[in-house]
This record gives sequence, C-alpha cells and structure tokens, in this order.
Amino acid sequence: MNDPSQSLRALSCADDYDPNSMPVAKARELIVRFLSPVTAIERVHVRSALGRVLAEDVISPLNVPAHDNSAMDGYAVRFADLKGDGDVALKVAGSAFAGAPFKGAVKAGECVRIMTGGVVPPGADTIVMQEHVKAEKDRVTIGPGYRKGQNLRRAGEDLAAGQVALKRGLALRPAEIGLISSLGIGEVTVYRRLRVAFFSTGDELVSIGTVPAAGQIYDSNRYTIHGMLTRLGCEVIDMGVVHDDPKLLERAFVEAAEAADVVITSGGVSVGEADFVKDLLNKLGEVVFWKIAMKPGRPLAYGRIGGAHFFGLPGNPVSVMVTFYQFVRDALLKLSGRDPVPPLPTFKVLCVSNLKKAPGRTEFQRGILSQDAAGNWSVRVTGDQGSGILRSMAEANCFIILPDVQGNVAAGTLVEVQVMEGVV
Ligand code: AMP
Ligand code: MG
Repeated sequence: MNDPSQSLRALSCADDYDPNSMPVAKARELIVRFLSPVTAIERVHVRSALGRVLAEDVISPLNVPAHDNSAMDGYAVRFADLKGDGDVALKVAGSAFAGAPFKGAVKAGECVRIMTGGVVPPGADTIVMQEHVKAEKDRVTIGPGYRKGQNLRRAGEDLAAGQVALKRGLALRPAEIGLISSLGIGEVTVYRRLRVAFFSTGDELVSIGTVPAAGQIYDSNRYTIHGMLTRLGCEVIDMGVVHDDPKLLERAFVEAAEAADVVITSGGVSVGEADFVKDLLNKLGEVVFWKIAMKPGRPLAYGRIGGAHFFGLPGNPVSVMVTFYQFVRDALLKLSGRDPVPPLPTFKVLCVSNLKKAPGRTEFQRGILSQDAAGNWSVRVTGDQGSGILRSMAEANCFIILPDVQGNVAAGTLVEVQVMEGVV
C-alpha cells in the first residue's frame, strides 16, 4: 500500500498544486494516485456473481467447443469424395444430432446426416449445407464448389483448454456469467464488496418520515448517494443526518472510518462551513481540500480519515450527483478492484440549445439526448441549471461537458456529451 500522508505532503509542495482551483483532469489524476484497492477475496457461486469483480483470471478447463462440430444442418462428407467439376452421389450411413453423435467413421463414398452442433464423425472433414444437396432415400447427390473444412467449427476454436477466458479486474455481466457456466465452473473468486459509509450534514435536514419545521428541508442526498452506490455494487452503510456540531461530526467521522473503506459526506464543505470541517479533518486524517474548477460542484474535499478514503461532497443535490459521477465513481470502481476502470464514454453531438457558459471552469450541464424522425441524434439542455434543481438531473439523460476554455455555445454547434443511463 502507498503511504498517502507522505504523498499528500509531497504533493502540496508541487509547483502547480493549487487546492483552491484544481482543474478537473488534474483532480482525477491526483485522486487515482492515492487509492488502495480492496485485496480481500471470497468465493461465490456464479448465480450470485453478477456485478462482482474477478480477483483472479478464469482459466478455461476445457476446449470450447469441445469437439469439431457442424455450423449447419446438412451432411458431413469426406472432401476427397467431392468432385471439382461435377456431381457425386454418396450413401447416407447414419446421423449425428446435437447430443447424439454418429457411432463409427465415415468411409469413402459415404456421408452422415448432421445437425447444427452435431459432432463431426471421424473421416468427415467438410459439411455440405442441406439446401445444396438432392436427397433421395439413403443417397444424396452433391455438386461441385466446396472448400475443405467448410461449415465446420473446430474444437478449441473459441477458447483452448488452459487459456485465460476472463481477466482479473473484470466486473461480471450476464455474458461473462454465461461464459463461466459454459466452462462448467460453478464458483468464482471475487474481491469482497467495497464498504462505503455515508451521511448528510446540516442542521436544516430531516429524513423522510419526519415533518419539516419552518426552514427545514428533506434530505435527498443520502437517497441519491444510496442509489449511486448500489448501482456500483458497493456495500452501503447509511449513517443518517448529522447536525453541524463539531462533537457529533467528529464522532460520525470516526465511526464511519472504522466501519468502512470509504466515507462519503455531503454538505458542510462550502464557504463558511469549510474551515470548521477542515479543522476537524486535519485533526482526524489528512485532506487535500479542493475547490475544483468545475460547475456545479466547486467545493469537493478528498483525503483520508484513519484507514478510510474520504470524499466530502458539496451540499447542493445536483453538485452531489455531478461530483459523484465525475470523481467518486471512478475512484470507487478502482477501489473495488476493477482493472482497468472503464471510462465513462463520451461522444460529440449537435446541440440545439444556446448554452450560457463562462470560460475558466469545466461545466457539466444537464442535457436531453433525443433522436428525430430521420434517425439523427441531438442534445438540448434541461431548463434552469441551478445546482439545487434536482429536477434537472431527473429530466436529463446525459451531461453536456463544456471544457474550461469554452465560452457561450450557439445552437448548431457540436458538443461533447456523456450518456448517463446504463453507465452512471
Ligand atoms: P452546504 O454545502 O452544506 O452549505 O449546502 C449547500 C446547499 O445544499 C444548502 O442549500 C443545503 O440546504 C443543501 N443541502 C445540503 N445537504 C443536503 C441534503 N442532504 N439534501 C438536500 N439538500 C441539501
Ligand atoms: Mg450545510
């Protein structure tokens, strides 16, 4: 494991290190440096392995396919029996169905009726499609024009015994689970789930089920964070709402760091509150306190408390989601053992809205990607982009990413988008 406190100290002496205006790319790069992924492993049945991360390579114990077999319904023939320039008649010696092979070998002048997946009998080396033959009783007539080995799938063609079927660091999807099952493997070795403890900070917050008094609001961040963590396959520890009281906060930070690999909080890192939380975190751990050059989500704290990684997200509900998707997601996947961490894909698309944007920060505006009748995709911005307007996230299906140097965007320009659904 790296020693984060050493690295953090070295970091703060670096020339281009400005904890109050960190470019997005630089912040990502720094976070990655201090992450120490989970190493504990466990064995799970393939049925329970969906979303889990492989802790070792899966080696194929067998050839796939196991036998030379037919890719078509047709006839297994000896290529040498076929004529290059005319018809040949062959005797049908029997059949080879999937799961019921032909017993014996195909002799000169013979062929075997074979179905897709049927084992190619000894002697035969080519499959002729049934549509291409004239069949009468136990004889078939076959014309010219075949290639030796045609329509035949070779044993081990997809995967040879001993070969790596799936690599360590991969998260299992239904396709991988199917592949593992096709090898007859019933259990896999995966990393234990990442434990993430989280709480909301703020005197104004109440949880669902409590009637808010004047000036109080419902806590929503804990619920979005819960959802985002669950999607990433984390084990979640919801620690509720903690009031802006140094004693209560200290206790919550310590408890969270003892229970989890990662601690995530929301609120309490903006101007005014920041110094107070900063002092506390300096006492309990080590924090690179960041204002990231982004919008929304400028205040974002990152560091360690005890043995746990710490992310102090902003309080505004949209900022929470944006910073989570842009920074915390990748970090959590890396900590979960994902190797490599798949980047969130982005692509360019025509923007049909005018976008307000001041140069100097990366903006993550909320967008709606849609397709017109001709099949062309374009993006428009959701309404007001205020960082407290959670509805803008709910309506959006993508982020429109506008780089630091970018100013206002006129409708009709290509912009970079990052699709949310299925990815984030
Ligand atoms: P803060 O960073 O704590 O100053 O919070 C910034 C804004 O986000 C304030 O308007 C808070 O009321 C709001 N906020 C903070 N935490 C939450 C939360 N858990 N759910 C909803 N809104 C919140
Ligand atoms: Mg607050």
